[in-house]
Amino acid sequence: MLGRTHFMGGALAGLALAKSMGLPLGEVWAVTGIAGFSALLPDVDTPKSTAGNVLFPLAFVLNRTLGHRGATHSLLAVLMLALAGAFIPGVKTIYLFAFVAGYLSHLLLDFLNPEGVPLLYPFGGRFSLGLFTTGTIFDNLLTVVLFAILFAGLKF
Ligand SMILES: [Zn+2]
Repeated sequence: MLGRTHFMGGALAGLALAKSMGLPLGEVWAVTGIAGFSALLPDVDTPKSTAGNVLFPLAFVLNRTLGHRGATHSLLAVLMLALAGAFIPGVKTIYLFAFVAGYLSHLLLDFLNPEGVPLLYPFGGRFSLGLFTTGTIFDNLLTVVLFAILFAGLKF
């Protein structure tokens, strides 16, 4: 999936989380934004991605050691990052949930791709529905649909 598709998917996951918890407007925006940006994080394993551009040295090392769509695309990765986040002083629990929701949305969207994701890393196996490839018209169409749903959901 394209970075913008992942951002929209993550933001939508965050919005759904915030709305389901009945959060005040400021928190809705914060949770939606955190989830949107965390949805970009799994692709830090390639320098070609948005997160990889921002964190280039890390992206280079991860790409060389783990490859694209490796360990960063696993349930273990999101668990470890969430646990690490829990130890940051002052971080609200809802923000950790937003992070997890966004990150998981990335794994779900890449699951639609034929390449699949190693959800159970370090155990073997890649999981995929094989519906459509990154950068195709379907990827762009999904971005538009996710944006429309997000826009409708953010309208108060
Ligand atoms: Zn990915």
